[in-house]
Amino acid sequence: MIGYICKYTPVEIIEAFGEEPVRLESGYKSHERAEALIHSNMCSFAKGVLENIIENNIEEVILTACCDSIKRLYDVLKDKVKFIHLLDLPRKKDPLAIDLFYNEIIEFIEAYQAFKNKNFAEENLLKILESKSFNKEKQSAESIAILGARLKDDVIEKITNSCTAKVINFTCTGEERVFNIEVKGNLLKSYAESLLNLTPCMRMAEDRSKLINKELKGIIYNTIKFCDFYSYEYAELKSKADLPLLKIETDYNDSNSGQILTRIDAFLESTGIKKIEKQKTKKGYFVGVDSGSTSTNVVIIDENKNIISYSIIPTGPKALESAFKAFEIALKNAGLQEKDITSIVATGYGRVSIPFADRIVTEITCHGKGAFFIDNTVRTVIDIGGQDSKVIRLDDSGNVIDFVMNDKCSAGTGRFLEVMTRTLGISIEEMAKVHKEVKENITITSMCTVFAESEVISLIAQNKDQRDIIHALNKAVASKAVSLVDRIGRKGKYMMTGGVAKNQGVVYAIESRLGEKLIIPFEPQIIGALGAALISLEGK
Ligand code: SF4
Ligand code: SF4
Repeated sequence: MIGYICKYTPVEIIEAFGEEPVRLESGYKSHERAEALIHSNMCSFAKGVLENIIENNIEEVILTACCDSIKRLYDVLKDKVKFIHLLDLPRKKDPLAIDLFYNEIIEFIEAYQAFKNKNFAEENLLKILESKSFNKEKQSAESIAILGARLKDDVIEKITNSCTAKVINFTCTGEERVFNIEVKGNLLKSYAESLLNLTPCMRMAEDRSKLINKELKGIIYNTIKFCDFYSYEYAELKSKADLPLLKIETDYNDSNSGQILTRIDAFLESTGIKKIEKQKTKKGYFVGVDSGSTSTNVVIIDENKNIISYSIIPTGPKALESAFKAFEIALKNAGLQEKDITSIVATGYGRVSIPFADRIVTEITCHGKGAFFIDNTVRTVIDIGGQDSKVIRLDDSGNVIDFVMNDKCSAGTGRFLEVMTRTLGISIEEMAKVHKEVKENITITSMCTVFAESEVISLIAQNKDQRDIIHALNKAVASKAVSLVDRIGRKGKYMMTGGVAKNQGVVYAIESRLGEKLIIPFEPQIIGALGAALISLEGK
């Protein structure tokens, strides 16, 4: 068994030796063992691969000289595994590059023969290549491409299962290995050439925007922390590709997989290629459950889209219990029983764990739907909840056409304000007051909740007026929200939703920055649940 990570690895040579090539996955919750051997600022992919090698006691590894991270991984592995080989990989596919790669493959064969004490047989390679021969029939179909760094298999599977389009995986080892080798005398040289002819990865000196064709409905681009290559390519692609593009950033641990799946789902929903189960009936009462990280909100509407009742309760530590409770309260308020309900759509972070829901839809789509229903002049929704904030762009028909999210930290969210109320020793209500007249226009320089708290402590120590500090904090939240708006471009009218929309100080600070009034719905916390209830009714 020999581990590899790169699609340019001569996998078929390994198979011709009668050995098993194993694709090494990254994706470990902790990189503790890897960081004992490699610098912690190395990219998380390389660290994850090292964790895998340690965990599974992999003794043979072949790498390509993809980037400095992989070269450092090679340096570390030299003392840790029984067989390690680094192939120099050209960036082009001209005759000189083919010669170079051919010689690299010969060197690998010689090294592996010596290590295994086995002879390499070309006829074995030929049989393997024939069994992987290329089907010339080209099928065209609506598709979605995954580009950038490798995505975990479960995420790819989720995308494949949830969209109607064909998923083409252009990441490192996503491509099916098929060959159409015309042997012109030297099989190994033809093989080296065919490897360089695989769909070029971002390391190759080829224009990858050629991968974009008219069947492509969108691109999901995965970037990785501490890897500049993918960020550069994403920026270039964005300037060339005239189609929906979703950028995600992963670090191969599971801590943010929920948020990533939310983004992907919302993207598929916005491009119109998300699988939708049709509703059978459109009579009765329809429920939306928004299971957020801070509050759980339920809305019940009738078949004429009238809001019959709603409930808002804190989510607490058990999202499922809160969802049941919020549903019961909303039923009681409406004078209904569970049997009166036709269908239920769940949304929010906890949506996947609500067993009584008939369907789940992302909060992006639900917030867009709810906001447009309340006021169809809205083109931008600013949602600031307890733990995240998002900005959603709607078209003239209320469809989500773009969105950005801050779901990585609590900067600029309700949680940020909650921490500050504790530091200031005031209530949420006092924090929410507008302070238009300030003695001193203070600016909080850090948006990180922890650093901002230290700044507030230092302002208190300097005896600054409490109203000026509150004003500064509201400005900080507004600045974060407007920077999200600017990422997708300004377009009114604006609606603000989420619990923070009840904070008049923040609303005023955002309005001052945007130079435009915000529409605040009668109950800003239920807009996601309302959107879910409407989707439940409409079945789309
Ligand atoms: S980026 Fe290219 S060279 Fe690097 S591992 Fe992926 S396929 Fe191989
Ligand atoms: S993620 Fe970037 S830095 Fe890390 S191995 Fe891949 S190309 Fe190299």
